[in-house]
Amino acid sequence: MLVVFGFMALTFIVLLPAKAGAGSLSGSGYLDGAGTASLKNSPVEPQQPVKTGETGSSDRPASSGASSSAVSSGGGIVIPGLPDISRILCLRQCVSSSKPTRGAIIAVRGENLDRVIRVIFRGKNGWLRAKFRTRTKAAVRVAVPRQAVKGYISVVDSGGNRSRSPNELRIFPISAIPIEVFPVRGPVSFGSSGSRFGAGRPGHIHQGQDVSAACGTKLVAVRRSRVLYNQWDSGGGNYVVLHNLGTRTNFVYMHMIRRSPLKVGQVIGAGAAVGRVGNTGSSSGCHLHFEYWVGPWQTGGSPIDPLAFLRSLLK
Ligand SMILES: [Zn+2]
Repeated sequence: MLVVFGFMALTFIVLLPAKAGAGSLSGSGYLDGAGTASLKNSPVEPQQPVKTGETGSSDRPASSGASSSAVSSGGGIVIPGLPDISRILCLRQCVSSSKPTRGAIIAVRGENLDRVIRVIFRGKNGWLRAKFRTRTKAAVRVAVPRQAVKGYISVVDSGGNRSRSPNELRIFPISAIPIEVFPVRGPVSFGSSGSRFGAGRPGHIHQGQDVSAACGTKLVAVRRSRVLYNQWDSGGGNYVVLHNLGTRTNFVYMHMIRRSPLKVGQVIGAGAAVGRVGNTGSSSGCHLHFEYWVGPWQTGGSPIDPLAFLRSLLK
């Protein structure tokens, strides 16, 4: 019943008379295009997955079979190449992609890493051996040992060959992981009154805040959240809805340049990549249309003005 009422209310909002004229987009002072109803067609039965715990993270197992590189197609024996580390990338439990915490999952990238049997970190009292989780020729994934401290990372392959990381890796405490980050990774503008929550739009009221930024600017998750939707809509363009774990709130990102690589159900940390700023759907300039919902998105919840919250993230 509540759901039915929610849709009726939504329909009513969409039918409200237009406050702004549909003409002269360039001079209209806002970035969503004429007739944008945030969404033209919302998914029929939005529901929040009830699963708990992490699913579909980026830490999926990769091929770990790695023993055949010594045999060439011609039948002769080829000496395997020496391992060589080019860079370290933090994948999970990260302060940023270059700042892992103790217990983080990192990717050691480089060449000829498919025969690596051991990854070595520096510890307070000497070297720490960490077993790899997965390995391919181009990358080895490993958990950062709890006792690891700043230092070079080394790998050792089954032939005893070693390689050292080009730089020392700093290891951060878990408390350094940001809880909330600003969703746009680049210069932004909040525009004028027409970009604001509650501004008039042809046929409806603006339900979010438009954040202008160059097309292609990276968009990231504000909080640790679960992906509820990753879809296309003629109004919202490529859009994603994220449910903030441990809260009743949801954030919506619209008009992205292309479909987000995220998978529905996936859990992502604050700062994880969501997509890139675009101008898709009913939009008249590169921008992020950002919505902040309390309660279920489109089905009983309410959008609130996100501007003060967004500004607080920039401090
Ligand atoms: Zn908008």
